Amino acid sequence: PPILVAIDGPAGSGKSSVSRTAAERLDFGILDTGAAYRALAWTARRIGLDLDDAAAMETLLDAWSYRITLRGEQRVTVAVTGGLSAAAPTLAEPVDITTEIRDHAVSGQVSRVSKHPAVRERLNAMFRRTVAGSGLPGVVIEGRDITTVVAPDAPVRILLTASPEVRAARRAGELPGLSPEQVLADLEARDAKDALVVDFFTPAPGVTLVDTSTLNFEQSVQAVVDIVRA
Ligand code: C5P
Repeated sequence: PPILVAIDGPAGSGKSSVSRTAAERLDFGILDTGAAYRALAWTARRIGLDLDDAAAMETLLDAWSYRITLRGEQRVTVAVTGGLSAAAPTLAEPVDITTEIRDHAVSGQVSRVSKHPAVRERLNAMFRRTVAGSGLPGVVIEGRDITTVVAPDAPVRILLTASPEVRAARRAGELPGLSPEQVLADLEARDAKDALVVDFFTPAPGVTLVDTSTLNFEQSVQAVVDIVRA
């Protein structure tokens, strides 16, 4: 089985970009678990399902096929098959939603699907299968509950944090058109909802805390690579 590097952290901690670049340097694959929650929210919205309805989300999961590439650019595709495909004829064949899952509308709604314990269990099982079957020497897996729930036995577990202001400034740079104040408000609202389900601000026992508030991108990547190689 691949060597696992588990990385958690809030939105804007640098988690996604730092994890991706650290994985490249280590010649490992990368699994962004937030992409699956985003893709599920995008699919549910597209079909017109109620994101707060756990049973509807489970029915969708039965019909949902999700793919993400673990090397290079992480491309995300989804399809809806079986009985539900009549409600989503345009999704009968896989569609690439790599760009769409980053939309502001998806970010604002994704906590509504990630709050359901049954959804989390199904996606966690999918993440473990994906990693185990990857055939890669190692995989960096990043999210909110990787160090605690998805891969608590990973040999390397890291929690990336940064102050709210730094996180908002980083996200504002990625979202032109929104003011830093708006970005900070959206980010804090999403963190507050997500933190009801998973505590991703406190490192669990054995998890290494890396605060990137005063680190630039390169220093953050190096910090992760150094921990893995130590
Ligand atoms: O990491 P990212 O910000 O893309 O994650 C999007 C959303 O997916 C989070 O706001 C959270 O609701 C959910 N998520 C989660 N558990 C994970 C990863 C993401 O609940 N392991």
